[in-house]
Amino acid sequence: MLKKFGGKVVASGVMLFVAVLFVAALFTGVGRDSISVPYTEFLRKFESGELAQVTISDGADLRFSVHGSYAVYTTANPRNPALREELLRGGVDVAEGGAAAGLAQILISVAFFAAGIFVVAKLLKKHSPSREMAFCVHDAAASGGTGCTFADVAGNHEAKESMQDLIDFIRNPAKYSRLGARIPRGIIFYGAPGTGKTLLAKAVAGEGGVPFFSVSGSDFVQMYVGVGAKRVRELFKNARAKGRAVIFIDEIDALGKKRQGASGGGSDERDQTLNALLTEMSGFAGGEGIIVIAATNRLDTLDEALLRPGRFDRHVEVSLPDLGARRAILEHHAANKPLAPDIDLAALARKTVYFSGAMLENLLNEAAILTAKACGESITRGDIDQAFMTVIAGAAKTDRSHVREHERRITAYHESGHALVSRLVSPETIVSKVSIIPSTKGAGGFCLNVPPEKMYFTKRDLEAQIKIALAGRASEELIFGADNITTGASNDIERATKICKDYVAKYAMGTAHGLLNLEVLDATGKIFDECGQLAERLYRETLDDIRAVLPKLHVMAEELLAREVLDQEDIERIAA
Ligand code: ADP
Ligand code: MG
Ligand code: ZN
Repeated sequence: MLKKFGGKVVASGVMLFVAVLFVAALFTGVGRDSISVPYTEFLRKFESGELAQVTISDGADLRFSVHGSYAVYTTANPRNPALREELLRGGVDVAEGGAAAGLAQILISVAFFAAGIFVVAKLLKKHSPSREMAFCVHDAAASGGTGCTFADVAGNHEAKESMQDLIDFIRNPAKYSRLGARIPRGIIFYGAPGTGKTLLAKAVAGEGGVPFFSVSGSDFVQMYVGVGAKRVRELFKNARAKGRAVIFIDEIDALGKKRQGASGGGSDERDQTLNALLTEMSGFAGGEGIIVIAATNRLDTLDEALLRPGRFDRHVEVSLPDLGARRAILEHHAANKPLAPDIDLAALARKTVYFSGAMLENLLNEAAILTAKACGESITRGDIDQAFMTVIAGAAKTDRSHVREHERRITAYHESGHALVSRLVSPETIVSKVSIIPSTKGAGGFCLNVPPEKMYFTKRDLEAQIKIALAGRASEELIFGADNITTGASNDIERATKICKDYVAKYAMGTAHGLLNLEVLDATGKIFDECGQLAERLYRETLDDIRAVLPKLHVMAEELLAREVLDQEDIERIAA
C-alpha cells in the first residue's frame, strides 16, 4: 500500500516517527537494560547483603540495584507493606517510585507516541487519494436517494412486505421513538446469489428517501488489525451525520463466519471489525433513523452472535423467484428491449425453473447482445434459445432440477433430524429455519440453530451440541437403513468430533484421564478411545431420541418436501 504514496512524504513521516520513539524511550527508560530475576533471587541477594538500592512502587515490578554494578534488576512486586521497613533495617537504600511517578512517566510516553502516530497518520492521509475509493461508500444523498424503488424489484413480495414497517421507520423515526417502540435495526437478507438482495436494500433506501451506504464484508478481509474497526466506525459516523440512512453490508459472512469448533480461533482483525460493528449497532439512539441491512448467501454459516436479539435479529429470505415472479422479472427487464412478436414470456418463465433474478436479467441481456451482433431489428426466439444455453452453462449449480427426488427425501429427513433433536435435548436453542434448498456450495440443505448466549457451557450442554450435530446421520440411518447413510453428514461429524475433543482434552469432562488438559501435555493422541466411546454413546442416545419422535420426524420431512423451507413457528408447531 505504501508504494502508492509519495516516497518523500513517507520517508519524512517515518523519520519523524523514529525520532519520537527515541525521545519517548529516553523518558521511559525503555532503552536501559534491566534484568528480571525471581523474587527468591532478590531475597537471596538481600540476605547476602548485595542489595544497594530498591525502588518500591505500586507497579507490578520492583526495581533494584546491587553493589558494584550499574545493572538494573527487576523482580515481581510482592506488594508487602512490611518489606520497606525490613529493607531499611537491613541497611538497604529505599527509594519511592510511587504510583504518581509511574503514572506521569506513562502519560508522557503515551503523549509522545500519540503525537507521533497522529503526525504520521496526517501525512499519510493527505497523500492517499485512493483511500476513500477502497472503502466504496456510495453516498446517494447528493443524487437524492438511490433512484431505485420497490417498483424495480419484481416478485419478492414477502421480502418487500416485511420491510414496510422499517421503511415507515426510516421515513419518520420520531414517530416510533416517541412511543418508545424498538424497531429492529439489523436485518439480514439471505438467499442464493442473484436473487436481488442488493437490489432490495437499495430499494429500501429509495423508498425511504434516505442515503445508501454500501460496503462489502470482503473489503475488510486481510486488512491490518484495527483498520477494519476504524472504517466501520467511520461508516457509522458518516451515516449518523445524515441522520437517516440505510447501511448495506454485502457478504457479511466474510466478517461473521461461524467460529470453528468451541476453541475459538479466527483472525483478530475479523473479530475486531465485527465487534466494532456490533458496538455501533448497540449504540443506536432513539431518534436516529438508521438501519443496517446485511446480505449473505448462507445464513447457516454465520456466527450465531450476529443473529441474536438486538443485533441482526430480523432474517428476511430473498428466495429464488417462483413462476409468477420469474414472469414479472422477465417483463421488467424486457420493457426496454424490442422483442419479436412470437416471444412468449410466460412460456419462458415456465422454462426457467431455478433461475435467479440475475440469471433472468442476464438471459435477456445476452439475447439482446446476440441480436445486436447480427444487426437484427428485434430479439428473436433463436437469440433467446442461444442465450438460454449460455446462461445455463455458466451457472449449472444453480439449476436444481438435477436434484433427484430421492436425494431431496434424504435431505429432508437429515435436516428434520437436526431440528427435532435440537428441540428435544436443548429447548433453549432456537431453531429458526430448516431448508432443503441446495446451495451452490454443495450443501443439500441446512438447519439453523441459535444456541443461547452463555458464559459457561455445562457438560450437558456440550453433549447436547454433539447430539444435535449427529442427529442428521442418525435420522438417515433410522429411515433409510445403516447401509444407506450418506456423505452429507461430513460437516456434522467434523463438528461433533471437535466438540468431543474439547470435552475430553480441554475441559477434562471425560473419565479416563483425570483433571488434565491433554493439549498442554501434548497428549491428544491418547484421547482417541475416550472420544470414540463418547461419540458412540451419544449417537446411540440420539438414535433413541429420534425413535421417540418418529411420527413428528415424518410430518416435518413431508412438510419440508412440500414447502422446501420451514420457519421457527412451523418447527415449534411440529415439535410441540
Ligand atoms: P444479490 O445481491 O442477491 O446477489 P443482486 O441484487 O445483485 O443480487 O441482483 C443482480 C441483478 O439481478 C439486479 O441488478 C437485477 O438486474 C437482477 N434482479 C435480481 N432480482 C431481481 C428482481 N426480483 N427483480 C428485478 N431484477 C432482479
Ligand atoms: Mg449482491
Ligand atoms: Zn447435517
